[in-house]
Amino acid sequence: MPKHVHAIIDNKTAAAKTANKKRAYIIIVAAILSALVAGLLLVCFFTLDMLPAYTYMVSAPNIGAGSVDASDARQIINVKMKIRVPVFSKKDSVYLFLGDKNIAVNSLTDAWGKTKEAFISEEGIITIPVSRGSTTNIDYDVSVSLPAKHGSRGAVTDIYTVFDGDQTFLLPAEFNLLSEEGVRNAVGRLNFAFDFPNNWEKIIPFTHLSDPGWMDIYSITKNAFVAGEFYLDYSTQSGLKVYSLEHQAADQQTTSQLTPEDMAGFDSLYAYYLELFGSAPEGFNIVLLPPDRQIIGGSGTGVVAASFDPNSIKDWQLLSHRMFHAFYDTVAPYINVHVEPNMWLNEGLATYYEKLAMDALPEPLKLRLGADFRSQMALTFSQYLYMRLKEPFQYNFAPMDEERLTSSSMTEFLHYTAAPLIVMLFERESANNGNPPDSLLRYCLDSSAFEGRVTALEAALDLLGDEGVGFCDDYLLGMNIPPLWYLEAYQPSSEEVLEALNYIETMLASWRKTEIPEFEADVLSMEELRELLASSDESGIPVLSDETGSLVKSFSPELYAIIKRYYQRAQQMGFDLDDRELRLKMQ
Ligand SMILES: [Zn+2]
Repeated sequence: MPKHVHAIIDNKTAAAKTANKKRAYIIIVAAILSALVAGLLLVCFFTLDMLPAYTYMVSAPNIGAGSVDASDARQIINVKMKIRVPVFSKKDSVYLFLGDKNIAVNSLTDAWGKTKEAFISEEGIITIPVSRGSTTNIDYDVSVSLPAKHGSRGAVTDIYTVFDGDQTFLLPAEFNLLSEEGVRNAVGRLNFAFDFPNNWEKIIPFTHLSDPGWMDIYSITKNAFVAGEFYLDYSTQSGLKVYSLEHQAADQQTTSQLTPEDMAGFDSLYAYYLELFGSAPEGFNIVLLPPDRQIIGGSGTGVVAASFDPNSIKDWQLLSHRMFHAFYDTVAPYINVHVEPNMWLNEGLATYYEKLAMDALPEPLKLRLGADFRSQMALTFSQYLYMRLKEPFQYNFAPMDEERLTSSSMTEFLHYTAAPLIVMLFERESANNGNPPDSLLRYCLDSSAFEGRVTALEAALDLLGDEGVGFCDDYLLGMNIPPLWYLEAYQPSSEEVLEALNYIETMLASWRKTEIPEFEADVLSMEELRELLASSDESGIPVLSDETGSLVKSFSPELYAIIKRYYQRAQQMGFDLDDRELRLKMQ
């Protein structure tokens, strides 16, 4: 072999040796790095606990498949829900709340389409086993447009779809257990997507929520989610937007059924609450559904949707009530506001201010609606006395006993009839004690006031001075009638009084019917009332003391006559007036 060939081979060998060394070095470094990464991953694997993400894809499969209107039975919303559990998660189960939602689950599968097992407890909690890196798909249908308090709940039509979050979304069960910590540890992110016709306006409160807490889930349950042929009627710089369905006039110009006076009405209500609370929700959308059919689409801090008749004082009051909650929940987002026995106070404030705020409406609109705060409170007081005197065993109870109420009719009565009157009396006593107006509301908005969960008692002791203890004993822990007899001066016509009494009777009877199927509302016609008022019978009401009897009689002769007739009939029928079942026996 020639010498130079040797040299070449030697050089090659040397080069190969250097290359091998380099390779070995790289391999060692790579091995160390891999070991480090693996170690790190292992540490993460055992220490990190990342939270799952839930995604909801909502569609209304029946729209466009024929004419679907608001009276149709095929009002179905489909939700495709995806639960993604990160690799670095220690969760072995997720819990969703089904409760009594009208949900039919079509399928529950893993990432490969294989059916998964789930367990449903008696309380309606669904337990779904999950593992690291897993995906769970739940496909379910929601039946909307079922009867609710202020009309049908939700609607699916060919021109719009509306629903609330509570009826539509399977949410972490920890929310229903009122556990802030539980909710914080249940889900890391919620995504909402909507598959509706492209030309539809979407009015939705949010598309995603990161690190949701209890109030975020509460907000999902309350808000309306709306899509449809809506038209923006009105918007302000302060964040208020008003939508209604597009109306095609003869000239094909888009027109609204709302008058400038109505627009000014929305504006003044919003301005009133902005002034009262000092700040507003980030954006507040009012969606007005046609009044021909009563529909409640939802009512939260971002979107309120309901059928609305601009000539109905009730619809304006409902809107005002919902606005109150939206502002309140924005300024004071605390669980304890929504926990008994604070709930009645929250509803009492909302019902008191829903009427007080109406005083801020422009004069012509106020006249058109007959909106006068004191007259409206006089009607509420009449309703309160009517139910208490007629059914003392059902409606005589202390507000602070809210947790112990056994019937939804009692809760309804406490929240919307008794509570606003107690708020009104509180405000009067507080003003007498030298406090500025709205002192109870301001007290409640102070976050620290909610820790004890007995806010009304604390407020009375702090704001009412020497009268505080008496107020607690008489009206909060006791069951005395709030002495608002001075409202007599603001009593509206007999027709309006009768309408208000028949309304509360029918409303509460509908709740009791859910518990006692044979329960019927006991309403009176104007003719019957006129006859009673014309009667010269001067006898008293046997169950009332002379003092209460004469207070009721001068406050409302109509109310007095109706209550008297009730007990006279009971006597004629031979019933014991102290019978707890008297009301039921008399129908
Ligand atoms: Zn309310």
